[in-house]
Amino acid sequence: MRKIQMVDLQGQYAKIKESVNASIAQVLDTSAYINGPLVHEFQADLEKYLEVKHVIPCANGTDALQIAMMGLGLEQGDEVITADFTFAATVEVIALLKLTPVLVDVEADTYNMDIEALKKAITPKTKAIVPVHLFGQVANMEAVMEIAKEHNLFVIEDNAQAIGANYTFKDGTKQKAGTIGNVGTTSFFPSKNLGCYGDGGAIFTNDDVLAHTIRGIVNHGMYRRYYHDVVGVNSRLDSIQAGVLQAKLPKLDLYCNARRDAARFYNNAFANNPHISTPAAKSNATENCGQICAVCDCHVFHQYTLQIKNGKRDELHQHLLALGIPNAIYYPVSLHAQKAYKDDRYNESDFPVTNELIKTVISLPMHTELDTEQLEFITDTINNFVN
Ligand SMILES: *Cc1c(COP(=O)(O)O)cnc(C)c1O
Repeated sequence: MRKIQMVDLQGQYAKIKESVNASIAQVLDTSAYINGPLVHEFQADLEKYLEVKHVIPCANGTDALQIAMMGLGLEQGDEVITADFTFAATVEVIALLKLTPVLVDVEADTYNMDIEALKKAITPKTKAIVPVHLFGQVANMEAVMEIAKEHNLFVIEDNAQAIGANYTFKDGTKQKAGTIGNVGTTSFFPSKNLGCYGDGGAIFTNDDVLAHTIRGIVNHGMYRRYYHDVVGVNSRLDSIQAGVLQAKLPKLDLYCNARRDAARFYNNAFANNPHISTPAAKSNATENCGQICAVCDCHVFHQYTLQIKNGKRDELHQHLLALGIPNAIYYPVSLHAQKAYKDDRYNESDFPVTNELIKTVISLPMHTELDTEQLEFITDTINNFVN
């Protein structure tokens, strides 16, 4: 059996080596390292793929979130609601901009923002909602957009983990994750579903005015060379990374399907284990069918994350490591309990689901190169241990 990896970037590279190397060579041959033609080509390719009017590339997914919030003109003291169970980058940029982060609990089956908790958190100071499409599953965007409309709030989708996912609305229409709110952001960190070979990120929007504002912000607040109209930042996707991404983008749907195939294998293998709860793939069109099918392309499995219900999560984590099965706890601490983001307004009773998830979740190897032999070994090992 091949060595099992949490993410197999080498195996993936081996299959696309020629096209990636050709893209990189093109940058080296022309020395157009910054803002070269490949950056513009990739931007246009991604706009087409996402069916969105504007893609603005930037340096990483954290910058993308920060710049999106700057572009919307959010001001000190404005409250921004996001999920308690996510990677810290989301809340970090809110705090960094001197906005007030307001964390809310998540749903136990999808790990995404709980809509009732979101409703309760809205105050007259609330200006924006940041749904995070955690682990590759699109949040309940239909409900988020309805609430945003009712209260006149901006929606910034943190799509770092769900690029390529589709969201199906009740009327059957589909939209790509990250293009539903006022603005969406993503990360091209190497282990993300569309990863480059360094750092990278992008911002998406259908709003022409916002796109123009953001294009200036990423470039030192300049709309005309050496005239700085607003305070900006320096945040660029470099041409080599754009070349890698341009070579990989045509494979993204294939990659999403490979991840879904692995997730389907995992779900089937754990279906009859009473101590294991498998992740739900849930969109409005299908409710929670518990299956992973073409209709449920709302989930692209950036992570495949189980809940171990018999109190043996930590033992399983060690047991798997000892047998050479990589696995990880995303996330071991909720954001409201982090030193940097403590706030007197929170009560532990506000976060029953997150407080449970940090004790039960475990993420299994998930990437585009897993084979049946590896999947069988992983699932047999887990089922034998958790019983
Ligand atoms: C990875 C990630 C980010 C940050 O992306 P970087 O490119 O590492 O800055 C933000 N939000 C979420 C949910 C992420 O997973």
